[in-house]
Amino acid sequence: MNIQYKKVAEEKKKSIAILGSTGSIGTQALDVIRANTDKFTVEVLTGGSNADLLIKQALEFNPNAVVVADESKYQYVKDALLPHDIKVYGGSKAISEVVEMDSIDLVLTAIVGYAGLESTIAAIRSGKQIALANKETLVVAGELVTELAKEKGVNLYPVDSEHSAIFQCLAGEFHNPIEKIYLTASGGPFRGKDSAFLKTVKKEQALKHPNWAMGAKITIDSASMMNNGLEVIEAKWLFGLKAEQIDVIVHPQSIVHSIVQFIDGSMKAQMGLPDMKLPIQYALAYPLRLNSDFPRFNFINYPQLTFEQADTKTFRNLALAFEAMNKGGNAPCALNAANEVAVAAFLADKTGFLEMSDIVERCLQTIQYIAKPSYTDYTETDKETRRIALQFLNS
Ligand code: NAD
Ligand code: MG
Repeated sequence: MNIQYKKVAEEKKKSIAILGSTGSIGTQALDVIRANTDKFTVEVLTGGSNADLLIKQALEFNPNAVVVADESKYQYVKDALLPHDIKVYGGSKAISEVVEMDSIDLVLTAIVGYAGLESTIAAIRSGKQIALANKETLVVAGELVTELAKEKGVNLYPVDSEHSAIFQCLAGEFHNPIEKIYLTASGGPFRGKDSAFLKTVKKEQALKHPNWAMGAKITIDSASMMNNGLEVIEAKWLFGLKAEQIDVIVHPQSIVHSIVQFIDGSMKAQMGLPDMKLPIQYALAYPLRLNSDFPRFNFINYPQLTFEQADTKTFRNLALAFEAMNKGGNAPCALNAANEVAVAAFLADKTGFLEMSDIVERCLQTIQYIAKPSYTDYTETDKETRRIALQFLNS
């Protein structure tokens, strides 16, 4: 378990850096902070290319520094914030630099994909506590990141709802061994569909998730069940588990967010309406629970909570993720890179829904295996896999 207990000084406001503040998680985190200005201050905001939203957020939350990753937007953001005594930087490298600021207590990593890895490592290296939304960080380099966190005394507080559920179930139980965990999966918009149907699926259909409103990449991952595969690997590293201790169970209502089974057979589940603000707030405020006005669950609206086996024959991504996890080394990094290329191609109407799994599978077979990768090995694997994936796409 990646939590080292420390009594938090509850009277002091937590100073937060939000990496990816213009995205789905980032904007919801700002909703949480807006409702709790007595608990949190915003020290840093970073965005990719949505300069107008980033400026609007900066004007409202008055951070010390803002970074826009897209350098072509730097001057625009700088000019807009010039009269407001907010430092403005441009480019990805600057994100990894601002997270080192002494004034930051906790960094929320809400950049999507491999692009979030470097800044998360930089934040851990400088001893910042982490609220981890960017699951790809642990998929790509779980061993390196969790070892570094341990060395630096940094806690990784999960934001992903399933992992937050496990974490909440473990409160008061950190000394008790886990027998296994069940990660719940909604099954996405195509649950129960067969390959013949999936062959014809377009991005507009895949982008309609039944229970959650999220960024485009994770929404496609949810439809293809790669999201659940990434979450299995994320859980392995967050909670120090073996592959056989992790199961995925499809639960279409998304009310039970995940389940821990202890060595005496007792099972604890965490429940609630599907609303990311809850796990975000729990990660930001830990170990406190804060008041919220989020809608409450009503049993009458959910006469049935159902559970079923995941269909890994049709949704091969989940099986591929287990395969990569069992292989270890740089295999999950390759899985992630291939998937990022495949999803981008699907979103650009350049490949089909089922072909996404083909690309991932072929990359996993092709990439040169490294058992104990260094950071450079990961960056090289990522680069090389993307090259191979693009080659497959264009062949
Ligand atoms: P999103 O696409 O809505 O937002 C991504 C953010 O990252 C934006 O602020 C964007 O500007 C920024 N960004 C994108 N590329 C960048 C780059 N190259 N450099 C710097 N910044 C960049 O994504 P999201 O749905 O908010 O997801 C963020 C992360 O949280 C993902 O890793 C996702 O898997 C995870 N997550 C999201 C949800 C959810 O409900 N959205 C749930 C669980 C986990
Ligand atoms: Mg999740």
